[in-house]
Amino acid sequence: MAKVDSCLFKFRYFLYTKTRMGYFYHRREITKSTLEHPDGHSKCHPTDFVGLKIIPVPMLKDNYAYIIIETRSRKTVVIDPGDAHAVQETLKKANVTPSAVLTTHKHWDHSGGNGQMKRMYPDIKIYGGNLDRVPDVTNTLKDGDCLEIGPLCFKVIFTPGHTVGHLTYLLEGSPFGAPDSLFSGDHLFLSGCGRIFECSPSVMLNSLEALHRLPDDTLVWPGHEYAVQNLEFSVYLDPENEITRQKHLWAMKQRRKMLPTCPSSLREEKLYNPFLRLTDEVILKSLELDGCEEDIELLKVKSLTELRERKEHYKYDKI
Ligand SMILES: [Zn+2]
Repeated sequence: MAKVDSCLFKFRYFLYTKTRMGYFYHRREITKSTLEHPDGHSKCHPTDFVGLKIIPVPMLKDNYAYIIIETRSRKTVVIDPGDAHAVQETLKKANVTPSAVLTTHKHWDHSGGNGQMKRMYPDIKIYGGNLDRVPDVTNTLKDGDCLEIGPLCFKVIFTPGHTVGHLTYLLEGSPFGAPDSLFSGDHLFLSGCGRIFECSPSVMLNSLEALHRLPDDTLVWPGHEYAVQNLEFSVYLDPENEITRQKHLWAMKQRRKMLPTCPSSLREEKLYNPFLRLTDEVILKSLELDGCEEDIELLKVKSLTELRERKEHYKYDKI
């Protein structure tokens, strides 16, 4: 039975990612979520630094696109416009015209608005990974590329795992007296990480470790509003962790008011995100992997695989 389910899932994933059916499914999801939340799933406000503004744009059921504005030159970049119309509304309110779209990965909820963005803003450049066949891309990127869009500098970090060509984008904060900002797509979430659709757990592990090495004050802007569910799972794994419990209570309070939970910081994530704490004693104990005298790299892969497996089957009861 499990084998039939797995084959069915692979077939549906193939249709979603490799055929136009995926795009039509995506359009239907936009219509459904717009009917449910005409003003979006969250009430988002800009985060302001000196000369820099970051605006989350709620879209679909729980996605975020982001608009980044350098306020002196008005240079504007959009991350993951799954729904181009929602992004356009916010751009109009801010009275800016975007120069570029940065796409984290090919899934339609992140890239499905690329074509419309190109039609709305003909001079715009659409960036995406060279391995992920992101729709409507005009310029491809690879690991380590530095992208300068006016005074905005982004470093490209290759983070395969969720998809084979997933990219995350690190915006340099120092020109604005701000910490760096990581736009993590479906790779890293508040207290979670993306499902591993197209790679092995060891590839995902390498990608998680690439982010683990970034400075602790890096702000994390994920592609979905999953904080309440993710923190509930983290509390289940580590019930004595007061920081996790407090963050969970805070996230529930935010969501009751339809307020977003982004950004978090890498410092916080290292305290409560189990996918960044793979060899912590508490996490290993909870996964019944404590006492395994194995090679540390093997243990990390085992821990990640088991965490993902448990998260797939965890029954959320508070949402
Ligand atoms: Zn995705």
